[in-house]
Amino acid sequence: MAKTTIDKVHARRIWDSRGRPTEVTLAGGARGSAIAPAGASRGSGEAVDLRDGGKTFGGWDVTAAVRGVEREIHEVLVGQDVRDQKRIDKYLIELDGTANKGRLGGNATVATSMAVAHAAAAQARLPLWRYLLGTDVEPVLPLPEIQIFGGGAHASNRVDLQDFMVTAVGAASFRQALDWTAEVYRHAGLLMADAGKLMGVADEGGFWPDFASNEEAIETLLRAIEASGLKPGADVAISLDVAASEFGKAGQYTLTRDGRTLSSDEMCAMLVDWVERYPICAIEDPLGEDDPEGMIRFTWAVRDRVQVVGDDFLVTNAERVRAAAKDGACNALLVKPNQAGTLTEAKAAADAAQKAGMGRIVSARSGETEDVTIVHLAVGWQAPQLKVGSFARSERMAKWNEGLRIADSLGGDGPLPPRSDFPWR
Ligand code: PGA
Ligand code: ZN
Repeated sequence: MAKTTIDKVHARRIWDSRGRPTEVTLAGGARGSAIAPAGASRGSGEAVDLRDGGKTFGGWDVTAAVRGVEREIHEVLVGQDVRDQKRIDKYLIELDGTANKGRLGGNATVATSMAVAHAAAAQARLPLWRYLLGTDVEPVLPLPEIQIFGGGAHASNRVDLQDFMVTAVGAASFRQALDWTAEVYRHAGLLMADAGKLMGVADEGGFWPDFASNEEAIETLLRAIEASGLKPGADVAISLDVAASEFGKAGQYTLTRDGRTLSSDEMCAMLVDWVERYPICAIEDPLGEDDPEGMIRFTWAVRDRVQVVGDDFLVTNAERVRAAAKDGACNALLVKPNQAGTLTEAKAAADAAQKAGMGRIVSARSGETEDVTIVHLAVGWQAPQLKVGSFARSERMAKWNEGLRIADSLGGDGPLPPRSDFPWR
């Protein structure tokens, strides 16, 4: 048996933010392991996150997904060459046999798929990002997109919008982007404390949004950037994840915090108005996943100025990306490997976006773990951006710190992609 042949696929249950690691051991002794994350505001087209249901742990247990890895997946993958990621992922897809990984679970397949990549990199004695990128390509670090206030499904719907984030559009390096964001996060906390509104943090570590309106969150973010001594728009810009599918159905958008229901046209007009009045560089899922006309209308209105990012709308699916590119329904893709269920499918979506000239933002989920694979995917796949929730809590910081370690290994602060790659001015 060659050293790169898979000898064992093993799943283990651990207690970490709903994640389940899979470990792949090769005949040569090299190992790789990875943990599947979980999302709270999921697109209906995502790979299924398989849970047991029933009473144990509120139905969230994963005995069936673990058993699937230990038995069926192990049996099919033993003897396969770990370097052939495409073939292994094809076997996973065929073994599952459903359109949405509903039988084995996207959580089982994505953890296996990522563990396979880690094992291959370990056998090659390369960091995963370098194994994926190849040895002759100059690496760049992704520009971070970081949440300052949480909302929507991540904060009991205290405000309607899900993520109030910043992107350090003017940063000279990955390290400087993190340093600037740390200051904005700290000042946002001070502003909340001054207003008597510091109430802890939401699911992803962003401050709990104790605001009277959605717009008050944007205004506070703007003041936090200014209080940090940074220039809004030029140094640090605002990114929003509206996650509109969470509060909009059939073209009706109910903004509970603002006490009004908007039509698709009105929602679109409100967001365009925000883009005109605030230094906004990106808006994710501005309209619902069932409102492609709204997405198209909004994207055509702002596409030269901001990134319109498809998350629930595209669910890391290459076909959907191609359709959206054709219609102009968004100009950037959020890449969440567990929405696809295998690395090959996630990479295909990212490649389709790149080919269409769309932005690519590799993203974590709200239910994260200490697993840092996505940072390596972002660098190895040359994705220009990375979204990991906030600048707090170890499951988030582990990823930012992994980026810094990669930058260190390159002997600097982490070069960023050329700014001409982005639509903002
Ligand atoms: P989720 O949200 O992981 O809860 O789906 C993250 C996002 O929308 O980017
Ligand atoms: Zn989203």
